[in-house]
Amino acid sequence: MSYNEKELKIIKFWKDNHIFEKSIEQRPKRNPYVFYDGPPFATGLPHYGHILSFVTKDVFPRYWTMKGYRCERRWGWDCHGLPIESICERTLDIRQKNEIFEMGLKNFNEFCRSKVLWYTNEWKETVERMGKWIEFDNSYKTMDNSFMETVWYIFKKIYTEGLVYRGKKVLYYCPRCETPLSNSEISMDNSYKDVTEQSVISKFKLKNDPSTFLLAWTTTPWTLIGNVTLAINSKAIYVKVKIGDEFFILIKDQLNIVKENYEVIEEFPGSKLLNKKYEPLYRISNDADEKGYYVIDGGEEVLSDEGTGIIHVALYGEFDYEMIKKYDLPQIQHVDEQGKLALGPPEWIGLWFKDLDEVVLEDLIQKNLLYSSENYTHSYPFCYRCETPLIYNALDAWFIDIQQIKVKLLKTNEMINWYPKEIAKRYQNIVETAPDWCISRNRFWATAIPIWECEGCHAVKVIGSIKELQENAVEGVPDDVDLHRHIVDEIHLRCQNCGKVMNRIPEVFDCWLESGSMPYAAKHYPFENVEWFKTNFPSDFVSEYIGQVRAWFYYMHVISILLFDEIPFRNVVVNGNILAEDGTKMSKSKRNFPDPNQIIEKYGADALRIYLMSSQLMRAQDLNFKEEIVKQVYRRFNLLLINVLRFYSMVDINNSTINLADSRNIMDKWIISTLNELIGEVTLRMDDFDTSEVCRLVFSFVEDLSTWYLKNSRNRFKSELESKRLNAMNTLSYVLLNLAKLSAPLTPFISEMIYQKLKENNITNLESVHLESWPSYEEELINQDLQQKMELTKEIVKRTFELRENAKIPVRQVLQKVTIKGVDLKQEYLDLISQTLNVREVVVDNSPVEELSINLDTVITPELKLEGITRNLIRNLNNCRKKKKLSPSNRINLYISSNNEQILEALDLYENKIKKSIQADNIIKRITDQMETQIFKIDDNTVEVSLEIKN
Ligand SMILES: [Zn+2]
Ligand SMILES: [Zn+2]
Repeated sequence: MSYNEKELKIIKFWKDNHIFEKSIEQRPKRNPYVFYDGPPFATGLPHYGHILSFVTKDVFPRYWTMKGYRCERRWGWDCHGLPIESICERTLDIRQKNEIFEMGLKNFNEFCRSKVLWYTNEWKETVERMGKWIEFDNSYKTMDNSFMETVWYIFKKIYTEGLVYRGKKVLYYCPRCETPLSNSEISMDNSYKDVTEQSVISKFKLKNDPSTFLLAWTTTPWTLIGNVTLAINSKAIYVKVKIGDEFFILIKDQLNIVKENYEVIEEFPGSKLLNKKYEPLYRISNDADEKGYYVIDGGEEVLSDEGTGIIHVALYGEFDYEMIKKYDLPQIQHVDEQGKLALGPPEWIGLWFKDLDEVVLEDLIQKNLLYSSENYTHSYPFCYRCETPLIYNALDAWFIDIQQIKVKLLKTNEMINWYPKEIAKRYQNIVETAPDWCISRNRFWATAIPIWECEGCHAVKVIGSIKELQENAVEGVPDDVDLHRHIVDEIHLRCQNCGKVMNRIPEVFDCWLESGSMPYAAKHYPFENVEWFKTNFPSDFVSEYIGQVRAWFYYMHVISILLFDEIPFRNVVVNGNILAEDGTKMSKSKRNFPDPNQIIEKYGADALRIYLMSSQLMRAQDLNFKEEIVKQVYRRFNLLLINVLRFYSMVDINNSTINLADSRNIMDKWIISTLNELIGEVTLRMDDFDTSEVCRLVFSFVEDLSTWYLKNSRNRFKSELESKRLNAMNTLSYVLLNLAKLSAPLTPFISEMIYQKLKENNITNLESVHLESWPSYEEELINQDLQQKMELTKEIVKRTFELRENAKIPVRQVLQKVTIKGVDLKQEYLDLISQTLNVREVVVDNSPVEELSINLDTVITPELKLEGITRNLIRNLNNCRKKKKLSPSNRINLYISSNNEQILEALDLYENKIKKSIQADNIIKRITDQMETQIFKIDDNTVEVSLEIKN
């Protein structure tokens, strides 16, 4: 059976026997370990990032379940917002927002609903195949009415407390999706790209001095059409220079941008420029003519090391909007909601704002109002969904007042355990600089904002539940009313003030408000589950990749502070990003990463799990995905364990009580001590969410078990003395049982394989390792002195092997003596060394030295040579038996011939030993032509043999 098939068999076993459900049911309700699974979108296929998050969110719930907690896990789906809308627009070939109105909101929203759970089955398969346990089919969805009703409840509560306001703010805006985006949405998925554009310095003519120009620099020439003012720093020094017949004004510090010969005519403080009137480049409104086109003081935000020290101000920037408000200048949006020119030269109306850059540049050249232009590379934000360049736009929107709760957010952050710890500081910075939260989107497929506004007196009413809507609506509202926009837009209220009709405002919620409401909305709190909630909030554990620190984690925190003044989670594990092998972003079109399904098929889910869990991803650092390392992990962990298990299956073990106390053997005592120490350390690290250290410890133990313990215990498993055999078997059973439990959260498949094998041998009796409790260690079984001595022994063996290798003497050649200085080891360790190294004597030289030193006697006497040959013969002869498929009970007569004297001598001298080792009754030094023979070589000498089976 392939490894892949073995794992698939385990999945079937878990499913058939409802092991996941049992693992939860057997833990008491009063002892919960609360876990929130951040809901993903089902609009794409799961990738490595998702797999990482599946695994992280599986390992810890399994661990805490084994520790006796009830850890309920329920899947959820994110269903709303731009991601799904833009996919639907592409499918429907919609290019502009008004086409959605044309097809009808109902049709569009229902289309979105039909696509939202498109890849659910593929997700289910990957989740299952990775061994992630979760209640998948009974998932909550952010588009469920129950979910949306809770969002309404939460919003009304926040609104009632006076923390929601409508305001105009400069926000990033996608002119194609026609909606604002939040800063966190943009920085989360790194939507900034380096672009090279034309930056221009344009000439603004002074009104009373037509041969003098103010120079202003911009990277967005299209905004020049909407210019209303120029800002300078009144405290900085400016200069007036003469070039040819013209005079130019700019900040003194930036004189280096003037490339021509110039003459400084005057030097003066910026304050001298204040209120000077200038000619606009483009005339767009009377309002601007009356109130604008003069120089204002922008203070220190006008930098002296960039541009010209004179800032051109239009509505499209944060600083710009501040200045416009401060000086009561006209707010002119010369570009419309779709990014097209609405005000300006008539022949340009309707042009796309990005195309205007070129047009404006040409025009300024024509009019001799361009001082200079050059290529300029800077990072610019793009819509994370449709990749349209964003613009800063002053927009009417609804906000949650974050400034009022900032102190609480910062204070309560101290109660959150971030893993790794340094994220706490990063999070603190995010909170400190957080703007108010823009919660409205001018879109369609999301929870409708439950605000109704009066047509007459503009009074506002906020609705917090379906019941409240029913009580206030003019129309009849059914109990199961859908809270999506296309339905609730048709519902009206009656104004309590003036009696006129109230309409719902057109905006829908930012879907982060939904994600942040997940702890309550997934359970329809407080409409249901009020009791349950008391013991299931806050969460004990959440995890996501680092981009979610400023997104999901932040929004959950904000809402929980707004609702309860409490943190929503106690422990947060933050993952890094998985990149392609060359360190670039994984990209489907570039095919720069292996298909996850193929990786799983080749090496199994366990190998992928432990590869991810052992990596720096668990310390929030990025990882370049390397198949080669998955393969190494597979060999170093899975295959070693499979081999141990194979060995275990071959020895005859059937013993329901494991008595460890009987064994006096140092190998047994050592592996038991090492295991107990391992249990202690792994527990400590798991409590600290440090899986990379856990993996390191477990890897090293598996290596000890397979390459030291088993290798040096094989003979005892075959011993004719029952007590010896039993000790070895008991020890191995005990070690495997505890190792299966210890690695169950990380590698649930191989742990189950081990456990089921132990069950066959009656070592254990529960149905599955995942119904077991977490092992505890026994202090009295840990023997530090023994472990140190064993480490020393391993070191001596390792170094002596190196000496053998340097002398080119194979291990099978027995040697006379090794002399060790600088150690104090008892006879049992020396025996172990002698046996492992195939050296007759281990001599300890007690002359005082500080350091360990080893001297290997490499002289091969004729006698040693013969013994070496004998071993070699035995090994080769046993191979011959194997080739003839003989069983240990088959006795033989051995016919043998060789031209080498030493080989013949060895046959005589060690006849009995050889006979015993190969189950031969007679050795006859003769070969005839009729015999069927096999040939092998010893030190270049040919040996021909024939095995005659006697029974
Ligand atoms: Zn967009
Ligand atoms: Zn009214």
